[in-house]
Amino acid sequence: MERLRVVMSIQSGCSKCGKPAVYLRRYTSEYLCGTCLVQTTIDRVRKTINRHKMLTDNDRIAVAISGGKDSAVLLHILYTIESAYPNSEIVPVTIDEGIQGYRDEALESARALSRSLDLTLEVLSFKELLGYSLDGIVKRRSSNALGACSYCGVFRRRALNIAAKNIGADVIATGHNLDDEAQTIFMNILRGDSARIARTNVPRELSVDGFVPRIKPITEISERDVVAYAHYLKLPYHDFPCPYAEEAYRNDVRSFLNEMEYRRPGTLLATLRSGESMTMAYRQAPTTWEFTNCEKCNTPSPSKICKVCELLESIRS
Ligand code: SF4
Ligand SMILES: [Zn+2]
Ligand SMILES: [Zn+2]
Repeated sequence: MERLRVVMSIQSGCSKCGKPAVYLRRYTSEYLCGTCLVQTTIDRVRKTINRHKMLTDNDRIAVAISGGKDSAVLLHILYTIESAYPNSEIVPVTIDEGIQGYRDEALESARALSRSLDLTLEVLSFKELLGYSLDGIVKRRSSNALGACSYCGVFRRRALNIAAKNIGADVIATGHNLDDEAQTIFMNILRGDSARIARTNVPRELSVDGFVPRIKPITEISERDVVAYAHYLKLPYHDFPCPYAEEAYRNDVRSFLNEMEYRRPGTLLATLRSGESMTMAYRQAPTTWEFTNCEKCNTPSPSKICKVCELLESIRS
């Protein structure tokens, strides 16, 4: 089990306070007790938020939670940080794609976590929004159609934007961790699409009208740290893979980066920094990313018909 691999009994004192350590953070070579593991993780997220000017003192923050470990840790950390700002507000939001036996169970974890923090979970389903659950879409698509994740990703993005607008959120926080980000950067480079790195990391102040700005506060927290944090605080989360998961390419990149991180701790963080440099470089160059409004749904889109309407059309026909 992943949880057991990262949290172990260590015959050493905490590098910060000298108490018995429970965790070795490999990329900083720090032995940490549970309290210092939690505190240093929160401090790191606070620095990321400040460095990228992700939040103001009085934001209504929609926190996208899936029921999994990353978003559980994200919600707990943001809740802790934002408790110092009386004018800010946290609203956990879950998009229910309609995947029987998977999302319904994850929803229970999301509800339990929200309840434990005295927050009310907002839920928006694909069925409510589009008229179809993801299970329904998979049944309707033609045999040569896209994989389930292609529909899911496009529709979830739209659903999250609508859910955030419905609750009057100023910003949407998502739980992408360091491993996710490094993998995505690497995959885009390997596919010859490094411009996409900049396109998908738009800073808050440059967000397009009609889209609630998105922030990723835990991108400097490794997956190992996330698991250790969730395990130490016993946060409720759902730990089973989606039945439609089809990420062979990402799995190859994950294995490669994990091996490199093991041999050379710091590889993941260096990859993230390279992505940030590329984003800066693209941002300084003249850009051709122009938006119009979708002819069918009026949402800002780079093409006449947005991707959501295009995919919906394909499953209706
Ligand atoms: S694995 Fe694919 S289908 Fe399942 S939740 Fe993730 S994006 Fe959606
Ligand atoms: Zn300590
Ligand atoms: Zn549209």
